[in-house]
Amino acid sequence: MREDNCIFCKIARGEIPSTTVYEDGDFRVILDLGPASKGHALILPKEHFKDLCEADPVVTAKILPLAGRIGKAMKTGLGASGFNVVQNNGTSAGQTVFHLHVHVIPRYEGGPAMVGWTPGKENAEELERTADVIKGAL
Ligand code: AMP
Ligand code: ZN
Repeated sequence: MREDNCIFCKIARGEIPSTTVYEDGDFRVILDLGPASKGHALILPKEHFKDLCEADPVVTAKILPLAGRIGKAMKTGLGASGFNVVQNNGTSAGQTVFHLHVHVIPRYEGGPAMVGWTPGKENAEELERTADVIKGAL
């Protein structure tokens, strides 16, 4: 399945040029045009899914191993000391392109802080209540 007006469908299928670092039958991996760090890559499934909730688990099961491969290449090739794997679902989570994609962001010693959050506080009862709500919705 593809969606006519989806830029990542067009990029993933090679209809729009991109800086590609990897391609197979299921995915194209490109460099992000607005990189958070040198080598910031995006894993694009060739099939269109709006986000993780709509995606085929057979396809998504292949993403983490591929992200690991790409991240390893960033370490050996670019000299990154680590990498983040980030995937945004929904506008409130920062998703701006509504074709499922996974960011692989190389991190370098002394580089800027990113992909973080301020830890909050929650009591045990509230954690239990929240867990029950999620369990009930699974
Ligand atoms: P997200 O905020 O998770 O939806 O991420 C979308 C990402 O796609 C951003 O990091 C953009 O810089 C990147 N992006 C948008 N359009 C292009 C494009 N044509 N080629 C490469 N990266 C793009
Ligand atoms: Zn698409």
